Amino acid sequence: MKQWLKQWKLRALYLSSLTLVSWGFTANKDLHSVAISGLPKEVWFYFKNNESKLVDLSVAADRRKHTDTTEAQRHYIDLDLPKDSSGNLPQAICDSYNLLSYLFYNCDEVESDFIIKEASDLGHYLGDAHVPLHTTSNYNGQLTGQTGIHSLWETHVYELTKAN
Ligand SMILES: [Zn+2]
Repeated sequence: MKQWLKQWKLRALYLSSLTLVSWGFTANKDLHSVAISGLPKEVWFYFKNNESKLVDLSVAADRRKHTDTTEAQRHYIDLDLPKDSSGNLPQAICDSYNLLSYLFYNCDEVESDFIIKEASDLGHYLGDAHVPLHTTSNYNGQLTGQTGIHSLWETHVYELTKAN
């Protein structure tokens, strides 16, 4: 198991960056589920067997924003603001990637749930990095008279499109 996890880690990051687009809870869950199909065969079975956990945990990072005051800033990078007040999404991706790598390298000593949890978080942060509204201080249209555009984009457009 350890060998295929080592081989997989870079490919997983690459595939995640290509296949995940973060949005509302429904889209996050759907995209984490779909992303499994793009994984290399060496790890596909592992993640397919843990799909329900991966999908359920795909929104855990957003839920933590309600209980952890340091979590929200991990979901955005306002590129139009000075660096010290702009969120730290890129650092969250690096931290999550490094922790996931550590867990893979030590997979004989860690519980599988930790790997699934961290893979879910990494997928979530990578997805958030692909949402244009997570890259601007006008993240909800509040500066341009378009308040509410964030949930319209992330949740309602996806769900309406999915339903049709
Ligand atoms: Zn998020």
